[in-house]
Amino acid sequence: MKVLVVNCGSSSVKYTLFSMTTEKKISWGLVECIGLPEAYYKRQTLGTEEIKSLCKVENHFQAVELIIKDLLNPETGSIKNIDEISVIGHRIVHGGDKFSESVLVNEDVKAGLKECFSIAPLHTPHHYSGIEAVEKMLPGIPSVLVFDTAFHQTMPDYAYMYAVPYEYYERDHVRRYGMHGTSHKYVMQRAAGMLGKKVEELNIITCHLGNGSSITAIKNGKVIDTSMGFTPLAGLVMGTRCGDIDPAVLVHIMSKNPKITSEEMNNLLNKQSGLLGISGLSGDMRTIVKAIQAGNKRAKLAFDMLCYSAKKYICMYYGILNHVDAIVFTAGIGENSPTVREKSCEGLDNLGIKIDVEVNNMPSSEERFISTADSKIKVMVIPTNEELMIARESIKVLANN
Ligand code: AMP
Repeated sequence: MKVLVVNCGSSSVKYTLFSMTTEKKISWGLVECIGLPEAYYKRQTLGTEEIKSLCKVENHFQAVELIIKDLLNPETGSIKNIDEISVIGHRIVHGGDKFSESVLVNEDVKAGLKECFSIAPLHTPHHYSGIEAVEKMLPGIPSVLVFDTAFHQTMPDYAYMYAVPYEYYERDHVRRYGMHGTSHKYVMQRAAGMLGKKVEELNIITCHLGNGSSITAIKNGKVIDTSMGFTPLAGLVMGTRCGDIDPAVLVHIMSKNPKITSEEMNNLLNKQSGLLGISGLSGDMRTIVKAIQAGNKRAKLAFDMLCYSAKKYICMYYGILNHVDAIVFTAGIGENSPTVREKSCEGLDNLGIKIDVEVNNMPSSEERFISTADSKIKVMVIPTNEELMIARESIKVLANN
């Protein structure tokens, strides 16, 4: 059984073809810089070298077409016949409050997705094009939508509402949605396995720390709060996003710079802030770490702010959950930076959170415990695997339909 996972981002399309008997990747790759002259296609098949070539693709529809044509190439492709693919899983960034779980695509679902265009205009129209391209290239093969927001739909209203006039919620759907849901759900399920507990009995705090970062409080296997909000801008200090700030800062900046447009403001908060904005160097954690080693004070400040924001969320969610089984770190920074993990949990011994510094510092790409044997709350590192989670969800939805 093969599953194709398609991930249409704002300017790229990534794909992974899985064999679900082994849950191993057969083929994977991406088309990057869509619509630009420098657009390229990078792909690899298990056991072969990576191939990279320039390509001419105007839009996401053409990018998906290119990928599927290549997968079906009689000489080099991984699929001989389209019937080998059981289902296509599409990663969808925002399902608004319309979609609380993964769904099989039909005309009603496509219409529902169109209604989400205005909430995530940089992504959802591209997701839609990806679905249409798949329908053209792989006719008759079912598609499933897996939403980044769906796992967070269990939040209670007092956690997801913003205290602005109620009409903005009713009319404009303004509320907290949360993101990275597929990743939080994947690591939760893995953590349950590692702890030998049922998901329904698990209380954990999952920390997805990457270019974008979010922390989620999970009670009895269900999300009760998460740090990202209406968009992925809220919460922690991130690579280039500011995270939580006083909204009056925006009003102040606008009054001091009356010519600033909403697009420029969006760019300032999403693309020029976070680690990049504070350090003036980069939004990439590896560059920040190198700069700190070279004595750069602003890089150190940016690093400290990120760790402090993570620690604040861990403590808030500890308070909300009351009993916590484990704290899980995942994604680029969470999986690879022992210092960020250590600093985010520093001084929390009284809460029962104790990291074993030696174990934490050991390089590894495996799932592992990094807390001391007597730590009441286990601390774990679990590499995320959103693509596999999407493939699993797609099969589950298919079986249920
Ligand atoms: P992601 O968005 O999950 O791909 O994560 C990207 C972030 O992970 C970037 O800020 C990278 O600099 C960071 N990252 C990757 N490897 C390391 C590492 N070894 N140490 C520190 N940060 C890392």
